[in-house]
Amino acid sequence: MPHNTGTTPPPIRGLHHVTAIAKDPKKNVAFYTRVLGLRLVKQTVNFDDPGTYHLYFADGAGTPGSVLTFFPWPNVARGELGAGETKATMFAITERSVPFWLRRLSALGVEHDAPVQRFDETVIAVRDHDGMRLELVASARHEGIGFAEVQGSDVPAEHALRGFAGVSLVLRSASKTIDLLTRTLGYAEVGNSDGVTRLMARGADTGQGAVMGQGAVMGRIIDVHEDQGAQRGRTGSGTVHHIAFRTKDDAEQQAWQDALAQRGLHATEILDRQYFHSIYVREPGGVLLEFATDAPGFAVDEPLATLGQELKLPAQYEGMRDALRARLPALVE
Ligand code: ZN
Repeated sequence: MPHNTGTTPPPIRGLHHVTAIAKDPKKNVAFYTRVLGLRLVKQTVNFDDPGTYHLYFADGAGTPGSVLTFFPWPNVARGELGAGETKATMFAITERSVPFWLRRLSALGVEHDAPVQRFDETVIAVRDHDGMRLELVASARHEGIGFAEVQGSDVPAEHALRGFAGVSLVLRSASKTIDLLTRTLGYAEVGNSDGVTRLMARGADTGQGAVMGQGAVMGRIIDVHEDQGAQRGRTGSGTVHHIAFRTKDDAEQQAWQDALAQRGLHATEILDRQYFHSIYVREPGGVLLEFATDAPGFAVDEPLATLGQELKLPAQYEGMRDALRARLPALVE
């Protein structure tokens, strides 16, 4: 057992990003920008596999808690949801936006379900072209979320996605995961219904959201579905690769590494992901978790006004730019 020398980190504020697997990068960009109205805030390569893209979608400013990223792998088979995986990625909308989104999804021919009530929310389940499970979650809680408008989107700002509401996980056995999230990460159990335990992050916002003068924080919810009969899933397009929590800075991230080790969970070393610093750990239910710093953010290598318009490469791949350009497919017609 390592000796705990650091301070206990403050409770988690919410999600930083969610990373999923897609097949066709062009379809991926079209769906998340033209259908959902998000902004492509970064085109770069997968740092572990530079012949493929890593695409980042977010609100207009790349606010932590609004960032959905994809590894588009053109040859990947479709994945299958199973135990130890993210069941749905939930985006926050306001209650008055429900009719707007139902009309828009129908008009654009997007596969979706009729709205249902869950806890105190109205939920529209949506599937993208890879079968990825998304939910547009309408709640009064989402009124106060500070988000940055996406310029040039045909989704009016009042109906825009306001970052993540959260994620849901499906686990064969939930108790160890819930224990980790509540006792170590500071989540509070706020609801229970039909085998679903709802957890909410309690951390105060001291990051970008606070700077923007907003109270509500994106990505606070984790719904844990326990399903003892759930089969193992299969990684592939339409599945979530990992979810990332926000950490304020490197010192807090170090404190998380220590706090996880105290629980016998050994996180990776700190990795430089160019736009944030990251550690990764597999939680007891099988979900891959990341802790990512708010800084330096997406404007570290290009101006905020033109985020996502050009292929950005970290220093180690800049020498391969021409070869990578030739290999990567165009993102728009
Ligand atoms: Zn990540």
